[in-house]
Amino acid sequence: MSQDHLLLDSYLKTLKLPTFKREYPVTARQCAQGNASYEAFLQQLAEQEVQQRQAQSIERRLRQAGFPLVKELDQFDFSAAPKLNKKRVLDLARCAFVEQRFNVVFTGAPGTGKTHLAIAIGREACRRGYKVKSFTAAALANTYLEAREERQVLRLESHIRKCDLIIVDELGYIPLARTAAEHLFSFFSQCYETTSLIVTTNLPFADWPQVFADDERMAGALLDRLTHHVHIVEILGDSYRLAQSVKRKKKQEGGEPVT
Ligand code: ADP
Ligand code: MG
Repeated sequence: MSQDHLLLDSYLKTLKLPTFKREYPVTARQCAQGNASYEAFLQQLAEQEVQQRQAQSIERRLRQAGFPLVKELDQFDFSAAPKLNKKRVLDLARCAFVEQRFNVVFTGAPGTGKTHLAIAIGREACRRGYKVKSFTAAALANTYLEAREERQVLRLESHIRKCDLIIVDELGYIPLARTAAEHLFSFFSQCYETTSLIVTTNLPFADWPQVFADDERMAGALLDRLTHHVHIVEILGDSYRLAQSVKRKKKQEGGEPVT
């Protein structure tokens, strides 16, 4: 390698342009062969650098969101949830609700795809440049408890305010103890009109006091904030998990082929 190249490589390193550094020898050769202008050469390299950076930042946002599983919208079989409005779900996945600080609540029986849709929309939000974080309600309550023990609640809450979208999965599966309920109340207050939420729950709103330490007033105030600007999507129907395992069983037993 010539001295010039060594010098150029070190400049590009200082400028933090790794894709320029990696790609310029090939791009330069191609551009020379194709008689491309200097501007075209520079533009090609800049484009590659920008694309590479965008891809990396999407990867980083997906990693930092902490999704428990990889679930995408194109893996969701809308024909298995015929009462679900597909257009509405696809519309939510365009994430205008995040921009508007609206919330989304998915309600429905276990196994109907609430978590799947929450993760899929969350991943879509990451791809669109939003900062997303995913929790189960229980894990979120625990995160608060730990933060309190370490006197880090303010830090946690400033972290929360910096997110564009937070998923709170499985609200209602486990009734929360008084302190945990209060922490979640504090969480919902923090997010009100600053951070969008996707909440999944198996419970009708009327039963929420049961989850929040039987405190009707707290549950009411919380619901008031959560549902002020909200899209509620009710997934009616049977458990997809259950339907799949019934299908598998029938196949194993050599019964009628099930489509
Ligand atoms: P819930 O959160 O409502 O209990 P999940 O989203 O966890 O349900 O769904 C249970 C399993 O079934 C998951 O593996 C999910 O990917 C799958 N699933 C549910 N509904 C569908 C669907 N309509 N199409 C494809 N997979 C689905
Ligand atoms: Mg779930």
